[in-house]
Amino acid sequence: MFLWGTATASYQIEGAVTADGRGPSIWDTFSHEPGRVREGHTGDDACDHYHRFEEDIALMSGLGVNSYRFSISWSRIQPTGAGAPTAAGLDFYDRLVDGLCARGIVPAATLFHWDLPQALQDQGGWLSRDTSARLADYAGIVAARLADRVPLWITLNEPFVHMVLGHGLGTHAPGQALLLDALPVAHHQLLGHGLAVQALRAEGARQVLITNNCTPVWAASDSEADVRAADAYDTLHNRLFNDPVLLGEYPDLSAYGVDLDVVQDGDLSAISQPLDGIGINYYNPTRISAPADPADLPFEDAGITGYPTTAFGWPVVPDGLRELLTGLAARYGDALPPVYITENGCSQPDELTPHGTVDDQARIDYLDGHIGAVRAAMNEGVDVRGYYVWSLLDNFEWSEGYTQRFGLVHVDFPTQTRTPKASYHWLRTQLTTHSEPWPTT
Ligand code: BGC
Repeated sequence: MFLWGTATASYQIEGAVTADGRGPSIWDTFSHEPGRVREGHTGDDACDHYHRFEEDIALMSGLGVNSYRFSISWSRIQPTGAGAPTAAGLDFYDRLVDGLCARGIVPAATLFHWDLPQALQDQGGWLSRDTSARLADYAGIVAARLADRVPLWITLNEPFVHMVLGHGLGTHAPGQALLLDALPVAHHQLLGHGLAVQALRAEGARQVLITNNCTPVWAASDSEADVRAADAYDTLHNRLFNDPVLLGEYPDLSAYGVDLDVVQDGDLSAISQPLDGIGINYYNPTRISAPADPADLPFEDAGITGYPTTAFGWPVVPDGLRELLTGLAARYGDALPPVYITENGCSQPDELTPHGTVDDQARIDYLDGHIGAVRAAMNEGVDVRGYYVWSLLDNFEWSEGYTQRFGLVHVDFPTQTRTPKASYHWLRTQLTTHSEPWPTT
């Protein structure tokens, strides 16, 4: 069965940040610091999904999806990131999973979608090797409770983004701007992934994935300098996270003057255990040129013009998804497990009309084009098993707060009223006639 779903993440939708013994996460801390998040928004209330999850499951059921990707808030399970779990935290996800199963919706649980317990950050966070072991402990706890009903597990969400925005540039929690000194965060997350895979399987998890966000990288010109810069970017964005997982080795980073000296014997075999699939998040390609100041980073984002853009200003390039998937298949061959598109979607300047509708034709076009690109990649031989729209609901879009709307369902945050957008109705119609991605129209 091809999995059609929607995706969300705990901090972005749950709210209820102090309910039932939940501990603070790095996003609670960061969003409350002045100037970190647009308009001072926080995830304190978000979509109040913690209290409204039954309504949200009903929305998914009405949409006709057969799967739902959500993330578990580590701080609800272990308020300080270690030690005994809280019963209330586990009970919440237990009820969520039961509710999904009752509606025939396959739960796909992500362990870590960027909301590290603050207490672990205080001990070094992902710059500390110990955090990898903590992730595995937490993985074992939640799998022991949920693996009988959750068939699909995702260890990490986008470790690249968490490294770069959280630790390299400081625009996401925990707000560190270490540039290339953030690289140990990549290794410790990947080691955490490997240890979590073992812990999940020991507790009966049937299928285990990691989700990497990948981008096709375009050199801004044929010049040797731009091509070299594009290669550097491809290495740091894509290969740094895919090679160790799929091939058991890191790409050579010596040309960029960096050395992953935190890698210890045995780490790569832990990181590269066989997976049941790989989650790929795709938003847009990246065009790269040689840096104006090579002292900072070995590449520079040259921007992409000539395509429609989302409200975020991201270029809309559906064929980039086909290019990405066929490129991954060519690069990794038999080492590439089945692919699940675990996120794809766009923010648009959605407005609720006085008639109670949201006419988001641009999102319909976006989804139609990208789903067609998935089909095109499948026709070229890529084994794709699922597609999840980011996102079910408008939600807390990290450093952009509530200013970027990605949902198939509009959320009026002051009243928490949910209104399915035109894209929701469109997708429901498509899903009644298609069991697999459809050809591009
Ligand atoms: C993340 C989501 C985020 C989305 C849109 C992905 O990088 O996994 O949490 O909301 O992109 O920015």
